[in-house]
Amino acid sequence: MQNLTILGSTGSVGCSTLDVVRRNLDRYKVFALSGFKNVELLARQIVEFNPDIAVVGGEKDLVRLKTLLPVRHSCELFCGKDALVDIAQAEKADIVMAAIVGAAGLEPSLAAAKAGKKLLLANKESLVTSGQLFMAAVKHSDALLLPIDSEHNAIFQCLPNQFDISDSSQGIRSIVLTASGGPFRAWTMEQITNASREQALAHPNWSMGAKITIDSATLMNKGLELIEACWLFSVCPDQVEVVVHPQSIIHSMVRYRDGSILAQMGAPDMKIPISYGLGWPERIDSGASALDFLSLSSLTFEAPDEIRFPCVRLAREAFSAGGTAGSVLNAANEVAVDAFLNGKIGFTKIAYVNELILNQIPVSTLDSIETVLEFDALARSQAERAVSRIAGELS
Ligand code: NAD
Ligand code: MG
Repeated sequence: MQNLTILGSTGSVGCSTLDVVRRNLDRYKVFALSGFKNVELLARQIVEFNPDIAVVGGEKDLVRLKTLLPVRHSCELFCGKDALVDIAQAEKADIVMAAIVGAAGLEPSLAAAKAGKKLLLANKESLVTSGQLFMAAVKHSDALLLPIDSEHNAIFQCLPNQFDISDSSQGIRSIVLTASGGPFRAWTMEQITNASREQALAHPNWSMGAKITIDSATLMNKGLELIEACWLFSVCPDQVEVVVHPQSIIHSMVRYRDGSILAQMGAPDMKIPISYGLGWPERIDSGASALDFLSLSSLTFEAPDEIRFPCVRLAREAFSAGGTAGSVLNAANEVAVDAFLNGKIGFTKIAYVNELILNQIPVSTLDSIETVLEFDALARSQAERAVSRIAGELS
C-alpha cells in the first residue's frame, strides 16, 4: 500500500488521478489532498477518500470547508502555501502527484523533488520556470521523476530504460513532440484575432483546466512542453521536432539513428499517463477506453504555423536565453491568459504580451528559487501594466 499526496486534487488532472485511485484502492491510500478554493469538491473528496490531511487556499476557505464536512471526521485541515510544502515533503507520502496549475505549483513540487519522492509531475510550469534547479534537486535527492504530461509520458515510454541522450550507443536522434493544433488550427489570422473565450475553451480532443486549454489554443502549451522536454530529457530545442497531429492519437515519439521511430498511442485521456506514473514500473488499470483502430479515419501530420501561432518560437527563444527567461515568459503568459479569460484582452494579444515582456526584462542568472520568484513577480507586474494599457485602462 502506497501513500499518495495529490497537490491540486480538485483540478482536471487531480480528479483523473482520483478516478485511477478509485480502481486501485488495494494499492494506493490517499494521504493528503489540496483543493485551493474549490472547497465543495474537496469536501466530497475528503468524505470519499478519507485522507489524513487536506489543504485549502486561505482562512476563509478553511472555515467554509469545516462547515461542509461531517462533524465526525478524522482529516486534519490546513491552509496556505507552507501547508502545501508540508504535504509534498511529508515522510508518510510515498508518491506525490504535482497537479497544481501555474507557477503556484513550483514550491510544493520542488519540495517533493528535494524530499526524494516518487514524483508524478503534471505541473509543467515547475520545469519551465526553474528547470535547472528542479533537475538538480531531483538528482541530488535521487527522487523518481515521472512525467505526466501526455507527450512527455509518451516519450518516456518510448525511450530506453536508463536513457542517456549523450550515449551514442542508444542512438537517440530526436524527440517528436506532437501537438493537436488546438481549436484554431485551420482558422485564418483574422478569425483568430476575433476568437471568443468560448471558442478558445472548446478544445477538439482533450478536456482540461481553463489555463492549459487556452495555452493549447495559442500553442503556448507546446512551447512550454518544448522547454519541459529539454529539461526532462537533457536535449536542446534543435533535438525536438514539433509536429501537428490533429487527432491526438499518437502522444509523441522518439526517432532513432537506424530509422526506427517509436510512438506511444492511445485515447486522449489523462488517466493513461497518470496510471502509468502511479503504477510504474508496473502497468495498472486506468479506466481509459480502449482505442478502436477501425473507428479512426486517418492519422494526419502537418507543420506548426509560427506566423499565426508565435508562442512556440517564444518558448524556444526563452530556453536558449536561459536563466530567468523561462520564468518571465511563464509569468507573462499566466497574466495574459487570465486577462483573456476575463475579457480584458483579445486572443492574439496573449502572444503579444508574452513577447513584449520576454523582450523587456533582461535575463539574469538563475541561482536560487528566490530569483525565480523575484522575476516571476517582476514579469507579472509588467504584464499587468501591458494588459491595462491594451484594455485602455491606462493612457
Ligand atoms: P485545473 O485548473 O483543472 O486544476 C488546478 C488545480 O490547482 C486545482 O486543484 C486548483 O484548486 C489548484 N490551484 C489553482 N491555483 C492554485 C494556487 N494558487 N495555489 C494552490 N493550488 C491552486 O488544472 P489542470 O488542467 O488539472 O492542470 C494542472 C497542471 O497539469 C497544469 O500545470 C497543467 O499544465 C498540467 N497538465 C494538465 C493536463 C490536463 O489534461 N488537464 C495535461 C497535461 C498537463
Ligand atoms: Mg501535454
